[in-house]
Amino acid sequence: MEFTQLPHPSPTPADVREQAIADPGFGTVFTDHMISIDYEEERGWHNAVIGPREPIALDPATSVLHYAQEIFEGLKAYKHPDGNLGLFRPEANARRFNISADRMAMPHLPEDVFVQSVRELVRKDADWFPTVEGGSLYLRPFMFASEAFLGVRPAKKYKYLVIASPAGNYFKSGVPAVSIWVSRDYVRAAPGGTGAAKTGGNYAASLVPQAEAIAKGHDQVVFLDAVERKWIEELGGMNLFFVMDDGTVITPPLTGTILPGITRNSLIQLLKEQGLTIREERYSIDQWRADAESGKLVETMACGTAAVVTPVGKVEGPDGAFTIGSGGPGQLTQKLRETLVGIQRGTVPDPHGWVSTI
Ligand SMILES: *Cc1c(COP(=O)(O)O)cnc(C)c1O
Repeated sequence: MEFTQLPHPSPTPADVREQAIADPGFGTVFTDHMISIDYEEERGWHNAVIGPREPIALDPATSVLHYAQEIFEGLKAYKHPDGNLGLFRPEANARRFNISADRMAMPHLPEDVFVQSVRELVRKDADWFPTVEGGSLYLRPFMFASEAFLGVRPAKKYKYLVIASPAGNYFKSGVPAVSIWVSRDYVRAAPGGTGAAKTGGNYAASLVPQAEAIAKGHDQVVFLDAVERKWIEELGGMNLFFVMDDGTVITPPLTGTILPGITRNSLIQLLKEQGLTIREERYSIDQWRADAESGKLVETMACGTAAVVTPVGKVEGPDGAFTIGSGGPGQLTQKLRETLVGIQRGTVPDPHGWVSTI
């Protein structure tokens, strides 16, 4: 697709930018440009622009504001030792974007256009790459129903945008183990619902239980299944793996209520190649506790694009708290994290061809 290049009338001065990217944290600093493509039922995708990042004016009746027809993706560009920037499996994000679109009754964006749009933005704003050690450029492609219409039906107009945000090192000093609260009163997704789609509503539904976890002194909330309230599903934005002392690793299966993480999929492949037995099967909260207490379960890891691989150290469930292993990062968690981060940053060989440089 041909992108019209709109010049920025007043790019951020270099000294201001350099200060902003020195230690940007997460999600508050944005680059100068954005991608925008429009969709209309009769015309398809058109008006592809790479131009200044700026506010978008919306009619108060715009349907996304009322019925939440929207989807998003999250991926990162990383800097390699040779100075090149690389993306990690962007075509997997493109594919998942369309799977989310199907569930939310939205049009497909051609996968090559998705990948191209992300690459164009990274190229355009490459000088926004953070200078802090371990930094990355976080890309946020998203699509929303832009038709002004209050009837309840799929919209006939959509907007696809990509914005970029320099991100600091998620964990500055090593990888601390996180503490997790098992939500009793709330679920994230039910069978037949939208749990497998990357859509804002799932996050809206997770905010109250996440706040509850924080109020109870934990970092994150873990959700159980909506039917039996016993099977472990995932965190608000990360998938889980349970490591047993015999080298077996269990991860909850993709039954439609869990988001199919690209980090999850990558870890499954890495684990298999290391000769470990990976089982995608249900694992209950009671079993988790029993296995942690007996020592059968040695590690639990949470994974996602933002924090890559993170150890879970403590869990507070309906029957009290328990500790995983020593309560700190386990061996396999650390090893996998180093491997995956190394592949992403170009310091470890990439036999799968997961990384594509810009
Ligand atoms: C995005 C997301 C993940 C992680 O997916 P990655 O592709 O690994 O970043 C996990 N759970 C939820 C609910 C998510 O939205």
